Amino acid sequence: MRFNFFKNFSDYEVHDRDYWRARLIFQALLLIVVTFGILFCVNWFLLDNKTVAFIDLIGVIIPAVLYVWFRKSGNVRLCTWALSIFVTLLLSAYLIVSQGLHYSMLWATTLPPLTFFLLGRRGGTIFSVYIFCLTGYLGWHQYAQQAVHIFSYKSLMNIAEIAVVHILIFRLYERTRESANRQIQIQQNRLSLLALTDQLTGLYNRSKFESAFEDMMKLHRHEVCALVILDIDHFKTVNDKYGHNVGDKVLKGFGDMILADIRHSDVLARWGGEEFVALLPFTSIDSAYVLVERWRKKIACEPIEGVAITISAGVTACYKEETLTATIERADAALYLAKEKGRNKVEIAV
Ligand code: GH3
Ligand code: MG
Ligand code: MG
Repeated sequence: MRFNFFKNFSDYEVHDRDYWRARLIFQALLLIVVTFGILFCVNWFLLDNKTVAFIDLIGVIIPAVLYVWFRKSGNVRLCTWALSIFVTLLLSAYLIVSQGLHYSMLWATTLPPLTFFLLGRRGGTIFSVYIFCLTGYLGWHQYAQQAVHIFSYKSLMNIAEIAVVHILIFRLYERTRESANRQIQIQQNRLSLLALTDQLTGLYNRSKFESAFEDMMKLHRHEVCALVILDIDHFKTVNDKYGHNVGDKVLKGFGDMILADIRHSDVLARWGGEEFVALLPFTSIDSAYVLVERWRKKIACEPIEGVAITISAGVTACYKEETLTATIERADAALYLAKEKGRNKVEIAV
């Protein structure tokens, strides 16, 4: 089996904050183990500096133990604290041993981004205040002793290493930010789609139809436009006879059937229950009548989901400056007339 350095805990999804914390814990621990492993070898074998090598060894063992423990437990909360405390102690030890010389105090700037990421605002503030107090004290000490500052190769190393750590941390920040933004975008799209559509039929809902009507009236105020209201006849009987589930399927099938026969610029919506509305721009009332008659005939001879149904419809023209409510009322009156006349009919509003 292939060994995976970053174990993925199934509890955390890719957009979860803890997913990224877990990744940072793994990355930081591995980085520390490798770095201190190299330092240990250099100090022990090359420089023969056994005391420093011993400290380096601690810097290998503790994070290695933490790494193994974190893989087993997956306890992000405890491990973020353990890692923050360990890194802070390590930094403090280094700053104190080097007395803050050779630009080593710049290391303090790596702790805030790390601990804010791992622990959030409160924990990040605590560790940041601590490390800046320590550097303040060391700085004051240098000042009091009138220390001479020499820019050595150690200074150069410190600055380069700190720059690398900064890049790594801020790369991670950017990645998590991108991931969060992407997630927000996906949710946003899903929500706006939900807000516009009717769950059962997948057609536009009433609220979307209302805004589409307003847009249409503004955009094409000088064009002819028709509105149709469609109602399935005796739909209650369909439910009673075949059950609500079949009733639902008939509604969906009916919606699909009409949708397949309208133009791109037309707007079809479920008005509610077994009633549907269609807005037909650039369509005169007579052309609308011909179209809806075609729908009526087709539906009357093609059962949907094995259920024979008929529809009644009311057709009206849309007039500029008239509200949707008034237009619908007129179409509704025509629909009522169609029902009165025995159903399976299309009526034009006068
Ligand atoms: P009419 O010819 O006068 O229109 O008779 P109707 O039975 O179609 O009209 P009515 O308004 O009396 O009843 C409408 C029925 O539509 C009642 C209701 O149970 C059914 N209905 C409304 N929404 C849904 C739905 O989402 N699914 C199903 N299966 N039935 C629905
Ligand atoms: Mg009905
Ligand atoms: Mg009805």
